[in-house]
Amino acid sequence: MHPLFFHLTQLIYPTICQSCKEKIYGAEYFLCLNCTKSLPLVGDYHQNNPTEKIFWGRFPFGFAYSYLYFQKDNITQHILHGLKYQSKKEMGEWLGYQLGKQLAEIPMAIDDNILLPVPLSAKKIAWRGYNQSEVIAEGISKITKIPIAHNNLLRIKNTETQTRKNRLERYTNMADAFEIGNTAAIEGKQIILVDDVITTGATLESCALTLLKIPKVKVSVLCGAIATQ
Ligand SMILES: [Zn+2]
Repeated sequence: MHPLFFHLTQLIYPTICQSCKEKIYGAEYFLCLNCTKSLPLVGDYHQNNPTEKIFWGRFPFGFAYSYLYFQKDNITQHILHGLKYQSKKEMGEWLGYQLGKQLAEIPMAIDDNILLPVPLSAKKIAWRGYNQSEVIAEGISKITKIPIAHNNLLRIKNTETQTRKNRLERYTNMADAFEIGNTAAIEGKQIILVDDVITTGATLESCALTLLKIPKVKVSVLCGAIATQ
């Protein structure tokens, strides 16, 4: 598209910032400059890492990191809303790209890594048309070239409505929610589990405990966001 024509279409149909709804002119980005500056970044992997803290003592992991803090009505929630409820897959790819960049700071073995998006139930996939964690994994894969394992972990229980449950109830609800599809493809691998947002961590814990039953498997976690406690 000719740049001038692009700017003209922007004047007629300006992009709206995903968070504050201000108009964005002449940019192909989904956040305005102010919101970009105010992104609630978790920051340095090595310092006060809340994603590692939430999983300590629950399962052994290599590393665990989330890119943004999630809170009701904050910028992160608006981005995840776009990804999950408005078919704005570019927001998931962007999150994946940011996580991929962070991987350079994280000490990890380079070989035998695979990205494994947390699966959704068939019902949810049918409703949304895609798995948002898979979109994030695609963004990570694009920048890091780490392959994505497709269909290696299956969701066998529809356990996604847990908002009203407490932590123990959520954990019990999630136990045995997953099953391995192709064990041979995962054996001996460093699996990086990918999810959109961590609230209690029960879903990722259940995935990890299922995967850790396979010989010589190591599990790490990369997540778009973590809820502030
Ligand atoms: Zn904005």
